[in-house]
Amino acid sequence: MVEREFDEFFLHENEKGKLAYLEIVQQTVEILLNSYPGKGSPYNGKTPEALKEEIERLAAIQAEGESAEIVMREIGDYVVANSIHVTHPTSMAHLHCPPLIPALAAEMVISQLNQSMDSWDQSMSATYVEEKMVKWLCQRMRLSDGADGTFTSGGTQSNYMGLLLARNSYCEKVFNTDVKRSGLPKDGHRLRILCSENAHFTVKKSASQLGLGEDAVLLVKTDEQHRLCTVDLQKKLSELKEQQLLPIAIVATCGTTDFGSIDPLVEIADIANEHEIWLHIDAAYGGAFMLSHENLQKIAGLELADSVTIDFHKLFYQPISCGAFFVKDSINFKYIQHYAEYLNPEEDEEEGIPHLVNKSIQTTRRFDALKLYVSLKILGTKRFGEMIDRTVRLAKQTAALLRDTKDFSLLNPEPELNALVFRYEPADLDPKKLNKLSRFIHRELWQKGIAVAAKTTINQNLYLKFTLLNPRTTLLDIQKVVHEITALGKSFTEKEGKSFEKIS
Ligand SMILES: *Cc1c(COP(=O)(O)O)cnc(C)c1O
Repeated sequence: MVEREFDEFFLHENEKGKLAYLEIVQQTVEILLNSYPGKGSPYNGKTPEALKEEIERLAAIQAEGESAEIVMREIGDYVVANSIHVTHPTSMAHLHCPPLIPALAAEMVISQLNQSMDSWDQSMSATYVEEKMVKWLCQRMRLSDGADGTFTSGGTQSNYMGLLLARNSYCEKVFNTDVKRSGLPKDGHRLRILCSENAHFTVKKSASQLGLGEDAVLLVKTDEQHRLCTVDLQKKLSELKEQQLLPIAIVATCGTTDFGSIDPLVEIADIANEHEIWLHIDAAYGGAFMLSHENLQKIAGLELADSVTIDFHKLFYQPISCGAFFVKDSINFKYIQHYAEYLNPEEDEEEGIPHLVNKSIQTTRRFDALKLYVSLKILGTKRFGEMIDRTVRLAKQTAALLRDTKDFSLLNPEPELNALVFRYEPADLDPKKLNKLSRFIHRELWQKGIAVAAKTTINQNLYLKFTLLNPRTTLLDIQKVVHEITALGKSFTEKEGKSFEKIS
């Protein structure tokens, strides 16, 4: 076989490349296997300053390359060892999942093939795999026959796309303005978006990027279960009418980031329908219930949306990044359609050559559909659903535990998904010090390697949050953490409580 320069840096028909690939992959696998010792912690507890310093000491990039073995070992020692281990049972801060092994294998295929989903001539079979996956998901969600979708980088991009299509569709219908060509109509400053107080911040961010401004987003009140209140929605719609402002979209959340609450989707869809307003459902988190056996009914109404956001790098256990965006009527993708002569000329379409860039706001795009496909095939929908349901059951058990444990207060005693917002509130501590206490507990948990929990502020009060995505986490793991929180809380109160006694 002909040898070429740089053979050892690429995987191709030549032995030299194959050998180099095998060697570095084997070594990398070993590093990863060894990074999970028997009784680990989710994080080794190093402070931001200590870790920054350590990473700065990583050897500089040289003119002469180093051996792969040395470099990868260094990555193991500095990067892997100092990462949060998302597969650890007490890594439970954010919507940050342990990735499925089948998806890890698929990632190897994805990165080696390096297909790009924008045009057919960069992703021949991949184009059809993504289309097949999209179709399967549309059916699973019971979207209508005219529905279509695309894989995205995640919920942020999907929410942005939903609101972009909503805006352009509205401006075409009401102002006869083609925003894609000529920009916002002169009445653009009157456009409004409605979502609940607990909707994701990317609704506002999208509004700002769409030329509407964050102030164009009206926050609808929530009920005691942190769901959008439809009475307030109706009231806000009437107010907008009086003020001659124009609601272009309602965003309902199917699984809020903090509480995992699911807005009343069917009721909201009725209201949107009655007022002829685009309904976008942000199901980044709760959309995974499409696979659930015990919670499927909770997402009833998802199929009524004009557009839907789903994230797979959350409750579908996919490595980052992996998300999707769906529209009820595929015609709406025309609002982002742009023919580039070099990439996706119109004539190709006539010849039946599909270019997925026509449905995306990205150009070069990863073949992430493959890892979801491989995961679903290997696990099967039965086991997949059981895995999701197990986490919801654990969340309910944890809620019961927190309700029954002295001095804990839980903000969502009836969790719909698997997030819990709570804090330790000892009666003998000055209430003004509760935020400081939560901050202390949060930091001690990760510094001592006990757990990585999240924190969030609700009405100026700082709370702790567990997001129980990991199906391997058990009630015993949680009991231990709750026990540690109590101990930390008591030690804090003992120190700080003294001054409280003096004041009172
Ligand atoms: C995570 C999340 C998002 C943002 O998605 P990314 O994948 O992080 O971009 C949007 N909405 C909700 C409800 C989310 O939970």
